[in-house]
Amino acid sequence: MCNRLEDIEKRVQDACRRSGRDPARVTVVAVSKKKPASMVRELYQCGQRVFGENYVQEGVEKVKALSDLSEIKWHFIGHLQRNKAKLAVLNFDWIQTVDSVRLVKSLNRHAAEQGKILNVLVQVNIGREESKYGLMPETVPEFLDQVSSLSNICVRGLMAIHPFSGSKEAARKWFMQMAALRAELAKTFPQLDLSELSMGMSNDFEVAIEEGATIVRIGTALFGPRD
Ligand SMILES: *Cc1c(COP(=O)(O)O)cnc(C)c1O
Repeated sequence: MCNRLEDIEKRVQDACRRSGRDPARVTVVAVSKKKPASMVRELYQCGQRVFGENYVQEGVEKVKALSDLSEIKWHFIGHLQRNKAKLAVLNFDWIQTVDSVRLVKSLNRHAAEQGKILNVLVQVNIGREESKYGLMPETVPEFLDQVSSLSNICVRGLMAIHPFSGSKEAARKWFMQMAALRAELAKTFPQLDLSELSMGMSNDFEVAIEEGATIVRIGTALFGPRD
């Protein structure tokens, strides 16, 4: 397992070198959905610190089982229903998938109750797919207008799950569109720190990094295939 992590870290560094980027500005989120807490622990012992989960209940079980790992950080990367907002705020450091004002207001209220500042990313449906969650790109400014004043929410940037295609290069155009959208929004909203861009998975994270990803979400390449 440590070998796999070393291999991913090397590939992140190579992608950064190719594109003139600083590897310190790329975070690997190890996506542990459907994998046992014991594997998360093993990867933590190899040096990995940031993990991602898709389902609140499954994630909460692992957060609890691994609460002795003092430096672990948890990102929620699945679709979040409002009735799970409180549990999510209690257990996760970042929510990468916010896409409605009602959800963010609910997260803000729970974060305030818990005396916590919650980091969030705005999920963008960059491929305009009916099957995917996320805001249409042109609606993000209005969304940011409505959530930027919430005192316990820190909007850190954008996240996307791009349309599936077999090839890495086919993903590049979506990554480029996301990078352009982030840059434009950062100009429009200088009062926010929209510096993060979460995109790219096991199959295409190197291309995502070349196009500006600051967070890559890697499951299979670290933990092996899921059933
Ligand atoms: C499962 C998942 C990943 C990881 O996918 P791999 O192809 O296994 O690396 C990344 N992001 C999201 C949102 C996921 O649901």
